[in-house]
Amino acid sequence: MSTILNGIAASNGIAIAKAYRLVEPDLSFNQSSVSDPAEEVNRFQTALQAAKTDLETIKEKAYKDLGADKAAIFEAHLLVLSDPELIQPIEEKIKTDSVNAEHALKETGDMFIAMFESMDNDYMKERAADIRDVTKRILAHLLQVQLANPSLIAEEVIIIAEDLTPSDTAQLNREFVKGFTTDIGGRTSHSAIMARSMEIPAVVGAKEVTQQIENGDMVIVDGLKGQVHINPTEELLAEYREISAQYEEQKAEWAKLVNEKTVTADGYHVELAANIGTPKDLKGVINNGGEGIGLYRTEFLYMGRDQLPTEDEQFESYKAVLEGMDGKPVVVRTLDIGGDKELPYLDLPKEMNPFLGFRAIRLCLEDRDIFQTQLRALLRASVYGNLKIMFPMIATLDEFREAKAALESAKQSLIDEGVSVSENIEVGIMVEIPSTAILADQFAKEVDFFSIGTNDLIQYTMAADRMNERVSYLYQPYNPSILRLIKMVIDAAHKEGKWAGMCGEMAGDEVAIPILLGLGLDEFSMSATSILKARSQLKRLSKAEMENLAEEALNLRTYGEVIQAVKKVSK
Ligand code: PEP
Ligand code: MG
Repeated sequence: MSTILNGIAASNGIAIAKAYRLVEPDLSFNQSSVSDPAEEVNRFQTALQAAKTDLETIKEKAYKDLGADKAAIFEAHLLVLSDPELIQPIEEKIKTDSVNAEHALKETGDMFIAMFESMDNDYMKERAADIRDVTKRILAHLLQVQLANPSLIAEEVIIIAEDLTPSDTAQLNREFVKGFTTDIGGRTSHSAIMARSMEIPAVVGAKEVTQQIENGDMVIVDGLKGQVHINPTEELLAEYREISAQYEEQKAEWAKLVNEKTVTADGYHVELAANIGTPKDLKGVINNGGEGIGLYRTEFLYMGRDQLPTEDEQFESYKAVLEGMDGKPVVVRTLDIGGDKELPYLDLPKEMNPFLGFRAIRLCLEDRDIFQTQLRALLRASVYGNLKIMFPMIATLDEFREAKAALESAKQSLIDEGVSVSENIEVGIMVEIPSTAILADQFAKEVDFFSIGTNDLIQYTMAADRMNERVSYLYQPYNPSILRLIKMVIDAAHKEGKWAGMCGEMAGDEVAIPILLGLGLDEFSMSATSILKARSQLKRLSKAEMENLAEEALNLRTYGEVIQAVKKVSK
């Protein structure tokens, strides 16, 4: 009998493969005294050698698959493992205190970590992370438990995890990772969003996957219904191969629209753009007929590494995207770190409510070096295409004015250096905080455009954490309260002759699309993989009829009533 777990359909498609658990093993142990310290030092040496062998293999694999940059991280770890300044004190401690190797390793490792972390030097601080990593690896060998090494995956797998951070997700190898499923998370958590742009089927918030699935179990991830099947019967497997084939056929049908503009049944054009996280996502945008980039989440450039990207590195990425889009609009959002997107090397203190904390523009306005570096890179790249710059998490007009002044100053510094900068860069904001939606009429006088970030706008309006599957029932894009806020933003933009887009996940939602068309949204930006389906839907809708639907929906009382109203008019 196969087992079914229900979760949240986070990324469409069907994946069938063996399970690979990406789960932190239990590394707890007790301190004990040993009667033969020399023997204990031998045990430590054996674990140390095993850790070195692991790292050699990982380094070679990383070099081959991911390039010299990534391999350098493991080279650094190997150096730490061979450093007598770390190793000798551990052996000394075993001998002089007659304690077990686990305890000597942990005590000594923690002392070095604390020492490096307290140094006022970024390079030294990074060494603390290296020591943490290598001591964990030796400890795992001492305790004879296995650490997951996702970079060594060399066959098709489905990743099983409690949660995946955006940076874990960014490092998944698209060739072998066919799908993933997690215990926690919601549809708009960033790992789910990334799964969509990477076209990896995913089910999140399935609560018990790490409890119920062992390494090597056969797993089906049904990213269409939000179900996970463990060790399915032959019959069920056959059924799923059929569903998967039908889904592929449906995609082939949509693919015929790839070179068409998005025009409704009554001749009204809207723009369907894509959300991306890295220049690597461009291929998906072109293959799916994106008419522009509506959101480039630049924070992924800053992840999966141990220091900030330089101005030149950023410039290369922005230039690649602008050139790749060949003159089509590209909205680049400045750094939106915080919430579920962490940058360990910034060493920011833990917060009680990270989604309400020191994030995004709040951080950039305080750490001016980080902000200026990004703004300069963007401005330098601006001459290679149609760049629009967008600030995230704007809560007040003062924040917008300050951010814009910072942009002006970066521009002036470049001009003074004789560097050319485009004169036609639109500057806009994300509307994702209710205060900004409510004051949209005032903002519209000063910004060039709005892009509505419903992932956050809904969580802040409904007071429901987007990462918490227990309150995911409150993620209600069609709640009339949300629809009214969206209407305020679109109307305010149009009144000032500006455009309004949406880059939250709601923009690609088939129930929301008819209402958004009726409300007059100009640009819909979504995961590239949703574009063709949305285009096929929009071509069948009439703008005039959807205006009536929107009018009706705004005056309904509940989420459920709105869904019913949409169903009545949708074919
Ligand atoms: C949003 O909040 O809707 C959005 C698009 O930004 P992010 O999902 O990156 O927070
Ligand atoms: Mg947001």
